[in-house]
Amino acid sequence: MNRSPVTGHVHSIQTLGTLDGPGVRFVVFAQGCPLRCGCCHNPDTWNPSAGTEISAQELVHRAMRYREYFRRDGGITLSGGEPLLQARFATALFEECHKMRINTCLDTSGCILNDEVKHLLTHTDRVLLDIKYPTDALYRAHVGCGIVQPLRFLQYLNQQNIPTTLRQVIIPTLNDTEESIDFLSLLAEERSCIDTVELLPFRKLCTAKYERMGIPFPMAEIEEPTQDLMERLQSRLRNPKKKK
Ligand code: SF4
Repeated sequence: MNRSPVTGHVHSIQTLGTLDGPGVRFVVFAQGCPLRCGCCHNPDTWNPSAGTEISAQELVHRAMRYREYFRRDGGITLSGGEPLLQARFATALFEECHKMRINTCLDTSGCILNDEVKHLLTHTDRVLLDIKYPTDALYRAHVGCGIVQPLRFLQYLNQQNIPTTLRQVIIPTLNDTEESIDFLSLLAEERSCIDTVELLPFRKLCTAKYERMGIPFPMAEIEEPTQDLMERLQSRLRNPKKKK
């Protein structure tokens, strides 16, 4: 019996990405996100029914053209949007990758944990998990979910021993604090699945996107962090890269 291919909605593809996971990666940006982060630089990924419909097999077929660049560490990264919204499609994509021996990496906010997502994680070689703020109040004000969701997700990653990179976008006046950095350090100490912590600077390149979409950019008044601030916070991290 022929089963129809599993398709998903994809916003865009970056063929030779170097910022979203180890090595050189074919990055697929999934369409749709249930959150509304004030710092979001991809508001055009929010609508779950927009984007291009494409099958998991077709995506892997396209990724295979870049296989020689992946070498030992690279592979596919599924980012977004929020890829957990299309967990069935993401699972089909990662299963297909593993058949072709392509490494899989999931870039997520960790806001959904159900049976489909748990199944997806059995085919995930690494998770890039955003921990956006150190408190529930900041999460509720600037993300649209509680802090309990990503923390529960992280706990599950730890139980399953899935290699995890924690990431935080540094937003001046909101999470550029010692408290926020110490919270990341503490998580990395307590959860053995975390082997890397990355601090990324808040950027406002997305302002034009918000203008085109006719919606206000909630963080338009916030300044981008200086290199000095990034270096200071980076040096406070106790364990940016743990030994595996
Ligand atoms: S989770 Fe990502 S895509 Fe969704 S609103 Fe936040 S930053 Fe944007």
